Amino acid sequence: MENSRRDFIKTSVLAAGALTFGLPGNANVPSEYPYVLADLPYAFNALEPYIDALTMEIHHDKHHKAYTDKFNAALEKFPDYQAKGIQNLFAQITQLPVELQTAVRNQGGGYWNHNFFWHMLSPEKTLPTEPLLTAINTTFGDMDKLKAAMAKAGLTVFGSGWVWLIENAQKELKIVTTANQNNPMMGDTADKGAPILGIDVWEHAYYLKYQNKRADYLDGIWNVINWKHASQLYF
Ligand code: MN
Repeated sequence: MENSRRDFIKTSVLAAGALTFGLPGNANVPSEYPYVLADLPYAFNALEPYIDALTMEIHHDKHHKAYTDKFNAALEKFPDYQAKGIQNLFAQITQLPVELQTAVRNQGGGYWNHNFFWHMLSPEKTLPTEPLLTAINTTFGDMDKLKAAMAKAGLTVFGSGWVWLIENAQKELKIVTTANQNNPMMGDTADKGAPILGIDVWEHAYYLKYQNKRADYLDGIWNVINWKHASQLYF
């Protein structure tokens, strides 16, 4: 590999810094083109009654598949960017060709965010490890206050989007929201950081069971949070 290209890749990775990580717990999912829709790590009905089986099936097999297929279709037209890795595409989003920028934001975001979401959920009862629990208590007061603050933030998302618990560059925990399929790793996001938790508040994530009651969905989802996964992301 020529030096300039190697230097460029190294610089890109360093620029992404603490925001660079793959898909924890999901090593089989590629983080560069061609992207692949992995199976859920549990059955469609595993998160019942908090998230119903039909919602999970449509969410994964239709919505997540569409993001994956459309992201691949967009990247087919941009061979120079196929090997860049999704984290770098997020970090450098403002420098991409406009058509690709839109695809990375909407389809790439949808691909990554849903991979994250499936693994952030689990039917198994798990607890946060001591470092994460201590950070939550120090930052928010206690676990119930974190849940209340995330629910409040999730309810403020107008239309479609996500509510995240992130660890920012100052190593602080912070609750942030993003519109549509944007995420806190995108270079033009106001509050950047590495996701610890990310809750999908698009209506397709809850409408069949909860209809317009987003607050009830945001309350129920804590029963199926994979704290083991979250804890692995906090360091
Ligand atoms: Mn979704």
